[in-house]
Amino acid sequence: YEAKRHGSGFVVYEATQDPYSVERLGLLTELGGAMGRGEMRVHYQPRRNLLNGELSGFEALARWEHPRLGLLGPGRFVPLAELSDVIRPLTLWVLGTALKQRCAWNKGGVMAVNLSARHLMDDSCPEQIARVISESGAEPSMLELEITESSLIGDPDRAQAILERICNLGVCIAIDDFGTGYSSLSHLKRLPLHKLKIDVSFVRQMLASPADGAIVDSTIGLAHQLGLSVAAEGIEDAATLDALRVHGCDEGQGYFIGYPMPAADATAWMASH
Ligand code: C2E
Ligand code: MG
Ligand code: MG
Ligand code: MG
Repeated sequence: YEAKRHGSGFVVYEATQDPYSVERLGLLTELGGAMGRGEMRVHYQPRRNLLNGELSGFEALARWEHPRLGLLGPGRFVPLAELSDVIRPLTLWVLGTALKQRCAWNKGGVMAVNLSARHLMDDSCPEQIARVISESGAEPSMLELEITESSLIGDPDRAQAILERICNLGVCIAIDDFGTGYSSLSHLKRLPLHKLKIDVSFVRQMLASPADGAIVDSTIGLAHQLGLSVAAEGIEDAATLDALRVHGCDEGQGYFIGYPMPAADATAWMASH
């Protein structure tokens, strides 16, 4: 669909290009009020340290309990939110909810939250994050922010400056979906990063496809040579998990370890693992 971003936050829409335009615009309008109406949820997906097998943290993933459409995954509404200013309250709501949950658990390792490019580029983004952290009662070191490479390509100098301010809060920064974007290594090496996350699309096929296996292996090597830790997402079976461990991948996430689940199920998961 042809929606174009403008600096002011307006969206110019070419409805003729998009068979779902009315549905999408309707959803976007409803999304603005979804947090206030209590329709938004956070599911938590566990991740393990692959060296010692211990729980290392959770990733917070947004879900929308839509009154007519049922439970919607982020693929249905995050791209819409990113077209408008709704992405800011949405992100800050997920952040606050996840950090309060982490405080309530008083265990569970690092809480990872996804940050959109549009939000990262806000000059006040670091202060917004600092405020939500302090209101939640969490320590900044409990938080990891995941950003995609595409966040960095538009204005790498600005992204770098804002990331440095976020890093100075004491928060870890991970590059999500590593390998699927177009960021250059020369940009990446200047950024205050802690972790690369290898994308699901490479990990799922890594044993069947030599090309994907090579991408996974070289990403692990690259991360370590840059002094970064490396995580794999999309681990769906024991053989993949074992291969990643043998190749020195630090951390793993995927359906084989645990599905994204509501807080109560994550609490039970921690008790039984
Ligand atoms: P992501 O951050 O890369 O999250 C990983 C996605 O992979 C999640 O999809 C997760 O459910 C899925 N996944 C986990 N393990 C496996 C596996 O073993 N196999 C496969 N095939 N998939 C697995 P989900 O929850 O649908 O989220 C999709 C994307 O939506 C996320 O990708 C993230 O980019 C975005 N997203 C989710 N929540 C938020 C949010 O609060 N804010 C923002 N800005 N983006 C979000
Ligand atoms: Mg992520
Ligand atoms: Mg990812
Ligand atoms: Mg993704």
